[in-house]
Amino acid sequence: MTAVDESRTLETTATPGFDPAPRKMLIGGEWVDAVDGDSFDTVDPATERVLTTVPRGRAADVDRAVRAARAAFAPDSPWRRMSPAERGRIIHRIGDLILEHADELALIESLDNGKPMFYARHADLPLTADLFHYMSGWATKIEGNTIPFSSAAPGQFLSFTTKEPVGVVGQIIPWNYPVMMASWKLAPVLAAGCTVVLKPAEQTPLSVLRLAELIQEAGVPDGVVNIVTGDGEAGAALAAHPDVDKIAFTGSTEVGRLIVQAAAGNMKKVTLELGGKSPNIVYADADLDKAIATSANAIFFNQGESCIAGSRLYVQRSVFDQVLEGIREEAKKIRVGRGIDEGTQMGPLVSAEQLDRVLGYVGTGREEGATVYSGGSRIGDQGFFMEPTILTDTEPQMRVVAEEIFGPVLVASPFDDLDDIAVAANDTPYGLAAGVFTKDVAKAFTTASAIRAGTVWINTWNVIDAALPFGGYKQSGWGREMGREVLENYLETKTVIAELS
Ligand code: NAP
Ligand code: MG
Repeated sequence: MTAVDESRTLETTATPGFDPAPRKMLIGGEWVDAVDGDSFDTVDPATERVLTTVPRGRAADVDRAVRAARAAFAPDSPWRRMSPAERGRIIHRIGDLILEHADELALIESLDNGKPMFYARHADLPLTADLFHYMSGWATKIEGNTIPFSSAAPGQFLSFTTKEPVGVVGQIIPWNYPVMMASWKLAPVLAAGCTVVLKPAEQTPLSVLRLAELIQEAGVPDGVVNIVTGDGEAGAALAAHPDVDKIAFTGSTEVGRLIVQAAAGNMKKVTLELGGKSPNIVYADADLDKAIATSANAIFFNQGESCIAGSRLYVQRSVFDQVLEGIREEAKKIRVGRGIDEGTQMGPLVSAEQLDRVLGYVGTGREEGATVYSGGSRIGDQGFFMEPTILTDTEPQMRVVAEEIFGPVLVASPFDDLDDIAVAANDTPYGLAAGVFTKDVAKAFTTASAIRAGTVWINTWNVIDAALPFGGYKQSGWGREMGREVLENYLETKTVIAELS
């Protein structure tokens, strides 16, 4: 079985190693077209040419996938009867297969999303495999507790808890780290013993479809993992489906709000990983060379299309000019180009819509009185390339400071008062990440504790790990991904009380 229909071919960008045949989606172990036969193009944002076509799943396809996932979750199904040890071995095998196919997956990711293939190969893919390897160990360690009954004589009751899979899970992911976001969702779902319907973003369905083939190859039974490609319509149908027990969403805060409303119908469990506008604080006593290089990376890595982008920079006034000048120099050195070309450090933005949105923000910033200190424009007229951009003379109420831009745009301002910086950093509805640069250990930890964010980096940025929980305070989300904590998202607790006398 394969996701590629070899009977059809298309006029596409011919890229060695990339198969342009139209794709199918995975439902109940079968590679299928949409029920109504509709499909859509997925585009290479560097060339604006069609890579291939993908089924346009809608409510009927979501329903079919949910039924397959429900059947695979039946008490007597192969998945439910499988030992945790075997489940763990299969999850581990998925990690191994990802590493074996890392070059191929990195190429697909780079073509579909635009990101530099080098980073996809050396960051996204290893982290994707890591999560499956890490989660494989948890399959055999999902434990309840024996809890002494508190209000009866010892020996009258035996009471304990067990942890059980929550059931059929719906997962919806964004386009910025397609295969990695799929792993954050699928690896814990499999460790917990659930079944799943996952919808990738319409802009970037291809790596997830290839991952699904590897998941099949690893031995996951039919119907346990179902992939429905499509747009927001399919996502909305999944979030509202009455037979989905739990929905896990990564994307914008705006759509997150719609997910919560849609989930209310059957009171699905909901977890959300949403947007960010993360503050990066550089104190004058920092190692400035390191702070400059890392701050540039914090905003420009992955074209700034990162929920954890260090998009609000606060620099202590005495070193503000020096740090800004340093980041501008770093920005100028960034090689912007096609993701698959050697040496590319920044690719195009993911779509024309995203380029318009980000350029629109730069325009808004200008109108609001900000200064474009560096960059600010599209590069060329083919492909959705944009200059790394820095805005200064910003004020807290400006939209460019208050809202998530999700592109390579840094807003920078100086600060004087150490007591006020935490207030400024926390002046946001978001709380995903933050960073602080200083050589003073006490100042570092005091600042870290004052900031309301799910991850705080000290003298570094963009460092994540399969074992460490990741997620947001405030409107950046509900719940945590990765680490032991994510398993709770996919488990129910059952309390068992037996009267012994
Ligand atoms: P988005 O527009 O919210 O879309 C996310 C996903 O939701 C896509 O698969 C999208 O489908 C789907 N969707 C759209 N409308 C829907 C609806 N009404 N009901 C259900 N699903 C719907 O976000 P994006 O533009 O792809 O990604 C950027 C955002 O994701 C940023 O805000 C970023 O901060 C956030 N993000 C957060 C994290 C994190 O871990 N916190 C990680 C990565 C990204 P289509 O795209 O196919 O229409
Ligand atoms: Mg694409």
